[in-house]
Amino acid sequence: MHEVGIMQNAIQMAEQQARESGANRIHALRLRVGLMSGVVAEALEFAFEAVSRGTLAEGARLEIERVPPAAWCAHCGAEFPCEDYDLTCPRCREFSQELRRGTEMQLSSIEVS
Ligand SMILES: [Zn+2]
Repeated sequence: MHEVGIMQNAIQMAEQQARESGANRIHALRLRVGLMSGVVAEALEFAFEAVSRGTLAEGARLEIERVPPAAWCAHCGAEFPCEDYDLTCPRCREFSQELRRGTEMQLSSIEVS
């Protein structure tokens, strides 16, 4: 499962950040997961249970922010949501080539002590 590796990386990054700030416990991890990233948020939650065991993040709260996809139109400069995967600009009807949001997968913040 792809999500196990992603979760392992996220926890490693979180542990590194916690140690750098002199903390020895992680209370919460926040992840931003784009709805078009190919990562399944539920699978991350499931993987977190197993992967966090024995780490500073054991027992921490996992918060996943699901980021809806948005595209940017090079023709008129509009940024628009494209939840239904329609990349046609609502303002000028040009076809966008650029997804600006919705493909990210990142650790956005942690709470430590
Ligand atoms: Zn446009």
